[in-house]
Parts: sequence; C-alpha cells; structure tokens
Amino acid sequence: MSGDSLKKQHRTYEHIFFDLDHTLWDFEKNAFLTIEELYENFKLNEHTELDVNSFYDIYSRHNHHYWDLFRRNQINRDTLRYIRFQKTIQEIGINNESWPFEMSDFYLSRLPLKEHLFKDAREVLNYLHAKYKLHIITNGFDEVQHKKLEVSGIRPFFKHVITSEIAGFQKPHSNIFRYALESAGAGVLNSIVIGDSIEADIIGAQNAGLDHIFFNPLDQDNAHPVMHQIRELKELYDLL
Ligand SMILES: [Mg+2]
Repeated sequence: MSGDSLKKQHRTYEHIFFDLDHTLWDFEKNAFLTIEELYENFKLNEHTELDVNSFYDIYSRHNHHYWDLFRRNQINRDTLRYIRFQKTIQEIGINNESWPFEMSDFYLSRLPLKEHLFKDAREVLNYLHAKYKLHIITNGFDEVQHKKLEVSGIRPFFKHVITSEIAGFQKPHSNIFRYALESAGAGVLNSIVIGDSIEADIIGAQNAGLDHIFFNPLDQDNAHPVMHQIRELKELYDLL
C-alpha cells in the first residue's frame, strides 16, 4: 500500500503521534558519538586493544539484550543503566567496580545533548505542524527524552510528549496509547502513529486500533502487515 494517499481514506486525521528514537532523533549516530566521548574520557585505549568501533559494537549488543529484559520487566531501570556497561567492560577484560556506574552517568548526561535528526525531519515537522496537532509517544526516560527534544530544537513542534516512564506502560502496550490519546484529547479515529519499530510502534498502534505508518529507513525485510511504509520522512508530504 506504500505510496497510496491517506487523504483518500475515510479517516480524517487531526493528531499525529510520532515515535522519537530512530524515527526523528538519529539514535544510532548520537549514541555512537556519545560512546566515542566515553571511550576518550575513560582513556579506554590504555586498557584495551579494541578501537572505539569495536567497543561500540560490544556495548550495543549488551545494550540491546538488557533493553529487551527491561521491556519484559525482568530487570529494572537502575539495573539496565549500569549492567550494559558492566558486561561490556567485563567482556574486554577490564575489572573495575565503579566504572559501570560512572560510565552510565557519563553516557546518560551526554547522550541527550546530541542533536542529530534524520534527514528532512525539521522541514517535514514544520509542514505537518501547520496541518495537524503533533505529539510524541516514546519508550524512554522522561528527563532524557525531553532533553533530546529541547537540544535538537524540535520541542516546539509538539503539543504533548508522552514517555513510557510517565504513562507507566511501554509500547506496544495499548495503555500507553490510551494515555497519549487522553492527554492530547485525541480519538482513535482521528489519530495516526508513525514509528520505526514493528514491535513497539506498529503492533502497539494495531493493538490500540490506530492507523499507522511504518518508517523503515534501512528498507529491512518485514513480514508483518503494515498500513503504510516509508523509507524517508519526506514521503510524508504525499501521505499527509
Ligand atoms: Mg523508535
């Protein structure tokens, strides 16, 4: 269905709910830049042969794994924050008990200060902002996600910013979508969700009965049925 105009469909949208990480805010690029700073700050080159790219790969693997456990409520937020660094430095043979906590503080204080957005994000938001009420629904920590929006300069585009921390539920749970609709004074029938994650955004939108657009910048294979799919944000000019 990609490419069909949503304007021709029976639903008339008033509200657009955007995901933040990997959809508007270039998480991968910003995270890498932060890990680069961390690698320098902790002088990791004096402790390992691995360069920053390899270090980042190891960190990413642990980060994904523990985010998964966090999503399934098997570990809490405080554990997630340090254990991803603890396992990373253990894997490269560094034994230091305080570093995982210091690294976590360093990372979480620097990451939200990065401002790289996906291509055309600002222009597309500017266009949509004139036609719709825009909001954010994001799985993440409230303070961190708000700072990302402020620093990257896109906060003024959004009326409501719903984080999983504030809603008490993570995407794809339909309660976070209900919470977001209620906060925004929006309805299921006049709202649409845009996000990069099948598991969180698309299945979440489907659970909540919401229309949705799957943002798939790397054109990854995907067997899950989606309503609309885009590779670039500027495709939204035609859809909305
Ligand atoms: Mg995302």
